[in-house]
Amino acid sequence: MRLVIPDLERLQALQELERQAASLQTAIGQVDARRLAIEAPVVEARNVLETLTRTIEERQTQRRAGDRDVATIQQRLTKYRQQLMAVTNAREYEAAQHEVATAEADLKAREDQTIALLFELDELTPQAEQARQLLADREDAAGLALAGLADETRRHKLELANVEGSITALRPTVTPTALALYDRVSKRYPRGVVSELKGELCVACNVKIRPMLASAVRKAEQLVQCENCTRLLYAVKPAAPAAPPAG
Ligand SMILES: [Zn+2]
Repeated sequence: MRLVIPDLERLQALQELERQAASLQTAIGQVDARRLAIEAPVVEARNVLETLTRTIEERQTQRRAGDRDVATIQQRLTKYRQQLMAVTNAREYEAAQHEVATAEADLKAREDQTIALLFELDELTPQAEQARQLLADREDAAGLALAGLADETRRHKLELANVEGSITALRPTVTPTALALYDRVSKRYPRGVVSELKGELCVACNVKIRPMLASAVRKAEQLVQCENCTRLLYAVKPAAPAAPPAG
């Protein structure tokens, strides 16, 4: 295989295109995970608001029940106070007195509970308002981020179609035997077929090849495989020495 250097350059280009395609596919594949990550703060804020709203509803229900209880106890108290007026002996007086005292204690306890509920509601209401605002802010931010993500995905899919088109166009321009060799090595090292040779060292597997082969790689007249890993080798031409500064 002589004068195959355009092949080596084309295979390097092919490998580069395959790498681009793979990274675009990875990015496209991560869309769902990224969408979930964007939505997570919204879900969290919504849960906080729902918990607060539920607690407020429970406290209001308890408060209404408390109001009903207070009314009932007050009726009971009125009845016992009237009985107190109508007693005819000390035993009846004592019994009525006891009922009045019990009802008064119940009333006091129920009213205390209602006051505690009102205090709690006073704290919960602004907390719910803050949570509602936080949710709205986070929904706005997530909406922007999701729109950005959708744009990016569209762009990635277009790029991928372009890259795949370039791969399809490039492959037939490579000599069939060279392309077959590339595809064979590609099964073992997807997107890692072509490796740089530094001195006599294959950069991919870190093993030295024979000087004769290294020199063939540098002459770049034929495709040379690494003796250890079978990758195709290329040598980077040393940069031209910089011109000495004028003056
Ligand atoms: Zn190697």
